Amino acid sequence: MSFSYRRTYRGPIEAVLLDWAGTTMDFGCMAPAVVFVQVYERQKVPITMDEARAPMGAHKKVHIQKISQLDSVRRRWQEVRGRPPNDDDVNAMFAEFVPLQLACLSQYSKLIPGTLEVAAELRKRGSKIGSTTGYLSEMMKINREDAKRQGYEPDSTVCASDVPAGRPYPYMCLQNAINLKVTTVQSCVKVDDTVPGVEEGLNAGMWTVGLAVSGNEVGLPLEQWEALPEQEKALKRARAYARMHQCGAHYVVDTIANLLPCIDDIQERIRSGETP
Ligand SMILES: [Mg+2]
Repeated sequence: MSFSYRRTYRGPIEAVLLDWAGTTMDFGCMAPAVVFVQVYERQKVPITMDEARAPMGAHKKVHIQKISQLDSVRRRWQEVRGRPPNDDDVNAMFAEFVPLQLACLSQYSKLIPGTLEVAAELRKRGSKIGSTTGYLSEMMKINREDAKRQGYEPDSTVCASDVPAGRPYPYMCLQNAINLKVTTVQSCVKVDDTVPGVEEGLNAGMWTVGLAVSGNEVGLPLEQWEALPEQEKALKRARAYARMHQCGAHYVVDTIANLLPCIDDIQERIRSGETP
């Protein structure tokens, strides 16, 4: 036989899965970062904001563990405590992290500009809105209520604590596909401000869009970002775009407000038989 034939999905985008912090709320992804800094401060091993942000996107306990595995942090921990950090330290810090995070979430829960308009337009086009997050379900209860008060309510929310493993594993995305009853992962788009969040979508076989400016990669609240001199903005933006492209995101844009042209393009590519 000389030819084989490939089956391709050419239907509509059935679901768009949006991350939370840094994607739809909390411009700059500030809430978790400030609490990771606090938790290490309490251990008398202060960390920098960059160290706090390095593993962003992961389950929060895994995140604390990954910070403790950074060479710079291990070295400082060794100096202060006379031994390297271990699992008990991670467990103790996670126990402290949870109430601290719960207490401050609402200070950072303002929706990112464009979220409401984009969600409404996606719904108008017939797409469902799913969501994934590294937050635990008790944290998401607060975020979901705050979001709802501002008019944003996704059809499905899956937390890292709801599945066997968080990002970059694909399980949260796949659970959304089940919850939203989509026919194929090829009809889904995952949108995220972190590298593990993009990888999560890629591992699930979905289209992916990385957000470079509103989240962890730039790591500044909206007012601070807007106040930056243009030259500094350009530097930070370029670095964030490079990181997002490098991890394999199909598209990279500044914020969720720039998402719709990507959705148009993805829909066109699906119609012409392309797969993620
Ligand atoms: Mg995020």
